[in-house]
Amino acid sequence: MIRTQEDNPTIQSTAERMAAACPAEPRWSPWAALIMAWVRPATLARRTNHVPLWKAYLVHLTAVFLGTLLVWFLVAWSKSDKLPWDVTAITLMLVDLAHHIVREYRNWPQDFYLWVFGTFLVIEGSALLTAFLAAGWAATDEPFRGSLAAGVRRTWLGTSLLLPAILFVGSTGNTLNYLSNDWQRSSRIQWPMPPQPPPDLQKGTPEWDAYQQQEVDYNRAWQAVLREYERAMPWYLRHAQTLIGMASALALAWAIWTWLCGASAERGLPPRDHPPLCEWCGYNLSHAPADGRCSECGRPVEESLGPDVRAGSPWEHRAVVGRWRAWRLCAWEAMIRPISFGRRLRLRTRVTAHGWYLASCIPLLMACAWVGWFGFYVAIEKRNPFEADNQGVLGVFSMAAVFTAGFLTAVLCLGASFAGFLFASPDRRNLLPVAIQAAAYLGPFLVLWTLFAGLAAVAVVLLEPVYREISQRVGVGLLQLFGPSALQRLSWVLANMGWLIVYLYLVARITSGARCANR
Ligand SMILES: [Zn+2]
Repeated sequence: MIRTQEDNPTIQSTAERMAAACPAEPRWSPWAALIMAWVRPATLARRTNHVPLWKAYLVHLTAVFLGTLLVWFLVAWSKSDKLPWDVTAITLMLVDLAHHIVREYRNWPQDFYLWVFGTFLVIEGSALLTAFLAAGWAATDEPFRGSLAAGVRRTWLGTSLLLPAILFVGSTGNTLNYLSNDWQRSSRIQWPMPPQPPPDLQKGTPEWDAYQQQEVDYNRAWQAVLREYERAMPWYLRHAQTLIGMASALALAWAIWTWLCGASAERGLPPRDHPPLCEWCGYNLSHAPADGRCSECGRPVEESLGPDVRAGSPWEHRAVVGRWRAWRLCAWEAMIRPISFGRRLRLRTRVTAHGWYLASCIPLLMACAWVGWFGFYVAIEKRNPFEADNQGVLGVFSMAAVFTAGFLTAVLCLGASFAGFLFASPDRRNLLPVAIQAAAYLGPFLVLWTLFAGLAAVAVVLLEPVYREISQRVGVGLLQLFGPSALQRLSWVLANMGWLIVYLYLVARITSGARCANR
């Protein structure tokens, strides 16, 4: 007897199904999200599964409004050049800022509206894109649109997690800026004065030589004072840019982690009733005997419904297989045998192992990204940034490494949502829960891609003469207009597009192995 959701009138609404699945989980008001989104993201997500989307959107709008106020406060604080508890100075600056905004509105109302509307569109568009990326993590055995709605709800409720991140980066920058200004005021350094050229200075005369010598002396003295100045500086001012870069990297990594914790929390929906299908051809096996064969493709029913089917990835059995061996097996099988790997993954049982697999890949990915950015810098600047890090490039590399990891995490989520969308149709299974596992188990592919991107960037810089030669010889239309640097960028982007296409293809291949999953 095949039972479907429609046959069961007693359990219908999502809320009721949820209540039946986990009656013990208390419910929170959506407004709890303003604090709990960054304090306890997973608990919040579990306890707000019932919240209707329009209420989640109100919470999101409130968080955006609070974020705007926070940014105004941070800007006013930075302009006041005072410590944050100097409330009077900051309030005066806020009033000044408000006057400035009103003036802008009076003078150029159309520009003002355009600017506000544009900013609003960018924020809302990013939130919806993030929600689409969250769908795979939130997905469970439900229609595809249910997973999308869950992604939207969790992202809107999670908007306020950006507030502490913005506050942390802003106050780090403002405090360092204040300390730096304060130190410059208190340190009485005498900078040498530049020499004045004598009137009617002629090249090649003894006066000219004397003037040249004065210039050299001046530069040397200036360098000496600069070294003295830097030595006298406290370490946190000497490395201020590095520290700000590190703070931004930390805030970004924390925000992504918190978002993922919330997005992947338990949904609490009971599994839906599906007819048992042949794993190989999708034929309905409802009436087939357990020891018989599929009447469509002739495969034993055991291979579709037996206890050994869909045992889960090797990483799910890492306690038995061994951590390192399981890691390698997953990496190899996901890349080399995607379909047979996809046949092992479970679609309807809640699994969390893939999240930890991805987490194990992230440090590797960041290390590769750091080395890539370092190599790119050295190839371009032809100097070792470790020797004198005046520009804070080491902090910039760390920020760029975290940014690269964040970008690739977004690509990963996009790959999963894309594959889920590819196979989505109302009468079939929602493959998002396997698509996100597929994308995560391809983490080592992302590491290899990062390594390639770094090496390719260095190679493209070093091969500049070749590019110049090519652009001169070939001189193809538009490319010649942009010159060799456009050719360099284009070849790098095209090579990386190739990696992206292979990645999306592999995610889709693994996911397709779960089309007829019964578990
Ligand atoms: Zn079959």
